[in-house]
Amino acid sequence: MQTQAYRQLDRDHHLHPFTDFKALAEEGSRIVTHAEGVYIHDSEGHRILDAMAGLWCVNLGYGREELVEAATAQLRELPYYNNFFKSTHPPAVKLAEALCRLAPAHMNRVFFTGSGSEANDTVLRMVRRFWALEGKPDKQWIIARENAYHGSTVAGLSLGGMAPMHGQGGPLVPKITHVRQPYWFGEGRPAGQDPGTFGRECAAALEAKILELGEENVAAFIAEPVQGAGGAIIPPESYWPAVKEVLARYDILLVMDEVICGFGRLGEWFGSMHYDLAPDLMPIAKGLSSGYLPIGGVLVGDRVAETLIERGGEFFHGFTYSGHPVCAAVALKNLELMQAEGVVERVRNDIGPYLAERWATLAEHPLVGEVRSLGLIGALELVDPDTGGRFDKSLGAGTLCRDICFELGLVMRSVGDTMIISPPLVISRAEIDELVSLARQALDDTERRLV
Ligand code: PLP
Repeated sequence: MQTQAYRQLDRDHHLHPFTDFKALAEEGSRIVTHAEGVYIHDSEGHRILDAMAGLWCVNLGYGREELVEAATAQLRELPYYNNFFKSTHPPAVKLAEALCRLAPAHMNRVFFTGSGSEANDTVLRMVRRFWALEGKPDKQWIIARENAYHGSTVAGLSLGGMAPMHGQGGPLVPKITHVRQPYWFGEGRPAGQDPGTFGRECAAALEAKILELGEENVAAFIAEPVQGAGGAIIPPESYWPAVKEVLARYDILLVMDEVICGFGRLGEWFGSMHYDLAPDLMPIAKGLSSGYLPIGGVLVGDRVAETLIERGGEFFHGFTYSGHPVCAAVALKNLELMQAEGVVERVRNDIGPYLAERWATLAEHPLVGEVRSLGLIGALELVDPDTGGRFDKSLGAGTLCRDICFELGLVMRSVGDTMIISPPLVISRAEIDELVSLARQALDDTERRLV
């Protein structure tokens, strides 16, 4: 089928996620047909370097035959059975064991879901159930962060802190509130305040919120180690140690959303390990299967697990596809390959530092106000070279730059005027050179069109 025919059918019948339906109908979609390594191909013959790893998920890159074989073999053996009613199957059991071996030592249980959003729904229910079983049923408030993304189900939406999403969500889940995010650049690099002081101030804002709500009413704090969809926001080094202290002072559970940072993105198996955190719960998804099949879950720390197991009775919660055998088999193979190939260590010791070095060269560009990266996540803040501040919003500088990137053969995402990358973890040095070179060309073209 030709591109135009696909576009027409797409326009007529397909409502895309996070999309202005009418605008897309006028513009027409890009039809992605196949992919290998770090490149996707479209129906018009373009080869595009995917510096977003799909949606932050294709950690091992495209076209891994071993994952195809794992799926095929499992489809033949047992294409589906559930984990309800005292049943399970080998892929779910083996994956649970493998995950708990890789997770921090105090996390020895996992509850499977089909996605990151379902994982965060599970978190919400587990957290409130835990405190009820502990005899503290008033501990129901969950504190999240402004501009956070935790998914698109109603619980995910409510835990997330994105104002435009809340504006369309109808009544949200009660007793969820949001505090300031540790986004130094986004707050205009407050005058006279170094990032360290700023990070501690954000932790103090969390403490103030706990005191306002009453510590006896606060169940948990949920956050990503590095905020992904919000704009690849790497917190100041002072932030997590200060938050850890606050949570310990008031006995509040820590939920680290590892949907993006998990599985090597920051150069450790989990982002929590990079920041030396011991979360009570870790929602996971995306890189767990390198995005080849949909699977997520919640890793549960011993404190919460023991209460749920010993005192909880039946937990009335689960999904048809919780621990789906084919998805679990692919996820297990994905983890095995990552271990065998030393993918996480390579991000930490080799390719992450290489990206940091090359990415930092973009700081010289007149359109760039800040460059940051950690492991294989990075951001560029676009600024107006005349003022050094943000462009007028009406110019849509980020969107323009993103579209130019596509024209040049690079997927780089924009969040407002923040350009972000999160490439497959298997990206080579030569491909990073290409990525940075294309990003520089895109910045030049954006400047030419804007300034
Ligand atoms: N949590 C975080 C941090 C995410 O980035 C996402 C998706 O981007 C989700 C949760 C939701 O995951 P899913 O889209 O698999 O439901």
